[in-house]
Amino acid sequence: MTSKTPPRQPPPPAGEPLDAWPAPQGGDAVGAIVDIDGTLVDTNYQHTVAWGRAFADHGVEVPLWRVHRHNGMGGDQLVAAVAGDDVEARLGDEIRESEAQHYAELIGEVTLLPGARDLLVGLRRRGHRAVLASSAKLEEVEHYVDLLDARELVDAWTSSADVDRTKPHPDLIATAAERLADSARLVVIGDTTWDAVAADKAGIPAIGLLSGGFGADELRGAGCCGVYTDAADLAAALDDALAGAASPVPR
Ligand SMILES: [Mg+2]
Repeated sequence: MTSKTPPRQPPPPAGEPLDAWPAPQGGDAVGAIVDIDGTLVDTNYQHTVAWGRAFADHGVEVPLWRVHRHNGMGGDQLVAAVAGDDVEARLGDEIRESEAQHYAELIGEVTLLPGARDLLVGLRRRGHRAVLASSAKLEEVEHYVDLLDARELVDAWTSSADVDRTKPHPDLIATAAERLADSARLVVIGDTTWDAVAADKAGIPAIGLLSGGFGADELRGAGCCGVYTDAADLAAALDDALAGAASPVPR
């Protein structure tokens, strides 16, 4: 376990412009690779319903609880994982297209999870850096970045277009890590077991949040070294959480 890392300089008073905050580079700066769906925005149940409707459109019966268990995978992985390789081979692209249409009807309902922006602000105020690592479609990611008002808070964001294989493969994590290569330490923050598995494959520790509907025991079982209720809970304990989780950048 690494030692607790104090802020390199005191954060400015509330209301100060972001450029008055600590420069987010070098030193003991942590690079946080932050999932979006279920971690920062309350989307997991809308995605579950959208996928359920998409499977039904094509005559594939799938109980919604099975879909929910696969939240955190991108669409490229989810169809086969939920319905099998045969359905993926015959109908994968059609089901993904249907899901996109159904989810587009629901995305307007999406709200931020408690503490979502506070977590990003807390990272930035300490001089840490963050990349939002999502396997959602780019237009959805851009919608969430605007909902979070986070364009000035994070270094970058990824989407499904940035990699060939989404979580639980480590590609998205590795792509995000490249943007944080000059950080001293890295950590993944996510809400599903798939985030933890992908992080482990990339050699980066993970913090899990319960806000996506996965249990603390299964998040720990998948490799999370810390579990918090939601982004607000993590933001309130951020220094201790990062001291216990973030590890040196794999070289
Ligand atoms: Mg997620």
